[in-house]
Amino acid sequence: MEFTKKKALGQNFLTSDNIPIRIASVCGADENTGVIEIGPGMGILTKQLLNISPKVVAIEIDEELIPHLNSRFEGCDNFKLINQDVIKCDLDDIIETEFGGMECCVCANLPYYITTPIVMKLLEGKYNFKSITVMVQKEVADRLAAKPKEEGYGAITASVNYYAKVVKHFKVGAANFSPKPKVDSAVISIIPYKDKPVKPICEKTFFEVVKGAFATRRKTLVNSLSSVFGNRLSKEALLSIITESHSPTVRGEELNVAELALISDKIQKHIQEE
Ligand code: SAM
Repeated sequence: MEFTKKKALGQNFLTSDNIPIRIASVCGADENTGVIEIGPGMGILTKQLLNISPKVVAIEIDEELIPHLNSRFEGCDNFKLINQDVIKCDLDDIIETEFGGMECCVCANLPYYITTPIVMKLLEGKYNFKSITVMVQKEVADRLAAKPKEEGYGAITASVNYYAKVVKHFKVGAANFSPKPKVDSAVISIIPYKDKPVKPICEKTFFEVVKGAFATRRKTLVNSLSSVFGNRLSKEALLSIITESHSPTVRGEELNVAELALISDKIQKHIQEE
C-alpha cells in the first residue's frame, strides 16, 4: 500500500515480526484476556495479538490507515477497529461494549509525542486493566522505572508508581523502525495495583504535593511546596511537617510515593484544621 508516514502522529513503524512477537509474549494477553491496542499502524503488532487473544480492539487516529487495516484483518472475527483519538475516546464505553466482563490488557507501540497523556489516561481512568504493556522512548522507560535519588526520578515516576508497578522488559534499537527515530526504545509493563499500597487522605492534595515537589529540582522540598501551598499554610508549618520525618533540606527527588503521601496527609490535616 502507498502510504506516507506522518511524523506528527509519531508514525515510526516496526519493520519485522521479531519485536512484535516479543512484545505480544510479555503483554499479558492469553486465551482469556482481551487486548486494546493503541495505534495499530499497518497492523504488525495487531497480527501477533490476534494470534493469542480472543478479542483485539485497535484504536487508530489516522483515517488513512483504516481501509488497509480492515482489509488486512478481514475475516478475523476477534478484530475490531475504532477510528478515534485515544485521548478523546470513551474507554469505559469501549470496554463495556467490546469486552463485556472479559479481563483486558493494553498493548501498544506508543506514538512518542503523546506517551505521558496516554499512560496517565489509562491509569487515572481506573479501568481495571490486567496490565499496560507499551513501547516508549528508552529515556521515558528509565524515568518510569527510576527509584528515588536516581536520574530521571520525577513527578511522572511518582504519579505512575502511585497507581502501578513498572516492569522493564527489553530495549529496542532505533534500527527496528521505519522511519528510524533518533532515539532507542524500550518495552515496559505498567501493572495497575488492584489495591493501591499507598492511600493518601486526599488524592488532589497528594498530586499537588507530587507536582510541587518536582517542579523546581534545585529547591528544597519546603521551598517547592510553599510555592504551591503558601496561601493555605505558613512556611513554618510546612517546615515543621517536613522535619517530623526528614531533614529541613530534603528535596522532592529523595522521597518515595509513601513518603510523599505522608507529607500530603499532614498538609491536608493542617489545612482542614485551619
Ligand atoms: N503499532 C504500529 C507499529 O508498531 O508499527 C504503529 C506504531 S506508531 C509508533 C504509533 C501509531 O499510533 C500510529 O499508527 C499513529 O497513527 C497512531 N496514533 C498517533 N496518535 C494517536 C492517537 N492520539 N490515538 C490513536 N492512535 C494514534
